[in-house]
Amino acid sequence: MKFIDEYQNSELATKLARRIANHSTKPIRLMEFCGGHTHAIMRYGIRQLVPKTVEMRSGPGCPVCVTATSDLDKAIALAHLPGVIITTFGDIMRVPGSYSSLQQAKAEGADIRIVYSSIDAVEIAKANPRKSIIFIGIGFETTAPTIAASIIKAQKNEVANFYVLSLLKLTPPVMKALLDLGEVKLDGIVGPGHVSVIIGSYPYEFIPKNYGVACVISGFEPLDILLCIDKLVEQVESGKPRVEIAYRRGVKPEGNEKALELMGKVFEIDGANWRGIGIVPQSGLKINQKYQHFDADKVFSVDLKPAREPKGCRCGDILRGVAAPPECKLFGRVCTPENPIGPCMVSSEGACAAYYRYGASYE
Ligand code: SF4
Repeated sequence: MKFIDEYQNSELATKLARRIANHSTKPIRLMEFCGGHTHAIMRYGIRQLVPKTVEMRSGPGCPVCVTATSDLDKAIALAHLPGVIITTFGDIMRVPGSYSSLQQAKAEGADIRIVYSSIDAVEIAKANPRKSIIFIGIGFETTAPTIAASIIKAQKNEVANFYVLSLLKLTPPVMKALLDLGEVKLDGIVGPGHVSVIIGSYPYEFIPKNYGVACVISGFEPLDILLCIDKLVEQVESGKPRVEIAYRRGVKPEGNEKALELMGKVFEIDGANWRGIGIVPQSGLKINQKYQHFDADKVFSVDLKPAREPKGCRCGDILRGVAAPPECKLFGRVCTPENPIGPCMVSSEGACAAYYRYGASYE
C-alpha cells in the first residue's frame, strides 16, 4: 500500500477482523502503550471489530498525562518567577496542578506562550534577551531529539537566556516497571509507533525474553492496528512471543541513529516521576553536565508545597491499565473536556478524552 487512505479501507479492515476472529481461540489481554493508539482504537471502533476474546487496555503513553503533579507544580512556580517567560506545548496548559494550572497562572499575569516546537522557544529567547525563557520539556523519545537540537542550537548561537525543564521520559523502562508491578496480566503489547521510529525495535527485546509477553510495533491507521492485533494474537496462540514490526514504513529495527546521537549528546538517563506509578529508575532524560547551564532545574529554584492529586481522579489507575475511564465515578459527569479534573481528560492523547469523545464505542 502506498497511500494513507488505503490503510483506512473498510473492506480490508473487515477481512482482517474476520481473520483475527478465526484464529483467536483463547481470551487475551493487550495493552496499547501509546495514547495515539488509544484514540485511533476508539475513533475507528476497533474494540468492536475484534472478537470478544481480545481485550484492549490503555497504557501510560500520553506524555502530558504521565507528568507528575509535583513536576507540573514546579512548572507553574517557575512561571511566577519575575523575568521568566514559560514556553510550552498547548496540551499542558489546562492540566490541573495541586493548587493551580499554567492557564490560571497566565490569567494571573504570568508570561506563558504556547509553541509548536522547542526551536520556537530559542527564537523567543533571542528576541527577548532580558528575559529568561524556560521551555517545559514534556514528551517521550519522539520529542527528545528536537529538544536536544534546540539546546545545541542555543549553545551554537550563544543564546544564554534559554533553559529547558526536562521532564522527558523513556518508554521501555516504564513498560518494564508495569510488567514488574504485575497488577494487570498482559499477553501482548501494541508497541508505540512514533517512539519506535526513534529507538527502533531492539529495546523491546526484554519483553518477550524476560516476561513471555508478545510485542508488535504498530502504526496509527486502522489497518495498522488490526494487523498488529492479528500478529499479537498469532504470537499468543502459537506460544511464541517475540518483537515484530507491523509499521515497516516508519520503523527500522535500529531506529533513527542521527536522532539517537543527538539525544546522547545532550541528555543522560536518570529516574523519572510518573503519575500513578512513581519514580521509575532509568526512565527519564536529564540534561548532562556539558549543557547544564541550560537546565532550568539547576539554574532556578522554587519553593513547592506538597503535591496533591485531584480528588476522585483515577488517572493513575488508568495509566497503569488497572481501570478504564468509565470506571472513574467522575467520568462524563463531573469530569468532561470542558471541565477536566485530571490530565487524561485534558490531553489530546488522554484515554479519558478518547473515551468521552468516541463514547458510543466503549459500551
Ligand atoms: Fe481523572 Fe477525569 Fe479521567 Fe476520572 S474521568 S480519571 S477524574 S481525568
